[in-house]
Amino acid sequence: MARLDACLECGEPFARAQGREFCTPKCRKDWNNRRMKRGAELYDLYMAHRFERATAQQLRVFQAINSMASHFRQEDHRERAGRQSWRRPTSVLEERPYLRSVTTRVRMGRMG
Ligand SMILES: [Zn+2]
Repeated sequence: MARLDACLECGEPFARAQGREFCTPKCRKDWNNRRMKRGAELYDLYMAHRFERATAQQLRVFQAINSMASHFRQEDHRERAGRQSWRRPTSVLEERPYLRSVTTRVRMGRMG
């Protein structure tokens, strides 16, 4: 018997097959397009925050990142009836278990 779950994009219940998170291909595309659009600028700002520290502090990049997140959340309230527009951290980390362990990151030389 299929379990009913809510589509991540539109929130409508659907019979969730193994691993599916969206009721239609359109919902999956809309979800991913929004994340790509929002993520591109966040990526640039976050990398500057992390690796161009002096410039980022001077330009208040971290404050800009937080401001963007607040703006995205306001959009979610307006356009998505407040539904969360990001995957849960547990789902993201389940897909990338190597991110969970600090000792793994040290071993792989990714702490710098
Ligand atoms: Zn949907």
